[in-house]
Amino acid sequence: MEELKVADFGGVIADRIRAEHVTLAARWLDRLRALIPVEASAVFPSEALLDHIPMLIREIATYLAVPENEAVAANTAVISKAQELGRLRHEQQASVHQLLSEYRLLGGILSTFVQEEVERQPSHPAPEQIVIVLRRMNDALWVLMQTTVDTFVTEYTTTIAAHADRLDSFNRMVSHELRQPLSTLLYALPMMRPASDLTVDNRHERLVFVMERNVRKLMTLMDQLEGMSRLRTADADAPHMQRVELTSMAREIGRQLREMADERGVELLVADGLPSVDVDAGRLELILMNLMSNGIKYSDPNKSTRHVRVNQAPTAPEGCVTILVEDNGIGIPSDQRAAIFGRFVRAHAELDSELGVRGAGLGLSIAAECAAGIGGKIRVESVLGEGTTFLLDLPLQAAS
Ligand code: ADP
Repeated sequence: MEELKVADFGGVIADRIRAEHVTLAARWLDRLRALIPVEASAVFPSEALLDHIPMLIREIATYLAVPENEAVAANTAVISKAQELGRLRHEQQASVHQLLSEYRLLGGILSTFVQEEVERQPSHPAPEQIVIVLRRMNDALWVLMQTTVDTFVTEYTTTIAAHADRLDSFNRMVSHELRQPLSTLLYALPMMRPASDLTVDNRHERLVFVMERNVRKLMTLMDQLEGMSRLRTADADAPHMQRVELTSMAREIGRQLREMADERGVELLVADGLPSVDVDAGRLELILMNLMSNGIKYSDPNKSTRHVRVNQAPTAPEGCVTILVEDNGIGIPSDQRAAIFGRFVRAHAELDSELGVRGAGLGLSIAAECAAGIGGKIRVESVLGEGTTFLLDLPLQAAS
């Protein structure tokens, strides 16, 4: 029996998925409807998602058709579709559980489709071709799912942070704005008592007493409210705290970025024995992922060897450990160094097509906010044409 070449089968499947992307999206929706015991309109209140899923499936097809070594994480079109989906599902108030089920179903539908296509082929593809296509499809789905869930969680965290901020200002309003008039009342009320030489109207006296007692109660209530608000602030990050071994975390991130790094010939080096820290692991991971992937993105194609190295700095500001993410990439012009932590700032937009990168200029601003959120700070040192080092200061109090 004639066998197709490896690259051909990926291309054939990509063409077929592209041709059937609307049908595949409809199958996915049907499966979800069967799974979820409520009206579909309650799950997908917006038509936007129904437009979105076929697009996402088409982008997966495009990825299957590209050469074997390209990392799906570097395919910005696919990633941005997955991010949009995360934002959309957040707006629709979905849950993480729902998102995971949705992707699991999508994976099932696509694998079944591949199986059907294998059976349809007049000349059967070799087993290794099928395995390669399925592996690439799984890789794509995995990265997409991670990106959608990450975006969803980021949106969620932002919403929660905004709610917490509003609650904080409400607490401040209660404690500061109300305390003062209440104190005045408490001070003024005793003056309403009649002077001792006047006949005491019992009813009047009793009313003053009741008023005093209630104002005092209100003052106690306010003390409690203030106390509760202090507690909330102090414990805000506690549920997210985890003991993180920095070497393991950086290596795991390196593993996720491996394909992207290989494609650009960048060696990822993580030092042994980096310290362990008690920290909000989600935020720290986001920071390291951003710094390490930037080191790969902005590597210098003209250098004979390229690297991104994660290491501990020999010195650190008082009370901190400092982790270095250092590269020998293109560097950052000195007049841009302070600005890159701002939103939508890009120092090398003109080199995008030469370097084969795309970006929104948001990564570092998010990383800087996350660093502040865990009591740390990101600094940068760079020599144009030689390389860049990001220095992440993490508070020592939480480090072991
Ligand atoms: P993006 O990479 O999406 O453009 P970032 O906020 O992550 O956005 O980075 C902002 C800018 O800082 C980048 O556009 C790039 O010009 C510069 N930059 C970041 N990291 C590096 C690095 N390791 N080497 C050189 N330039 C960098």
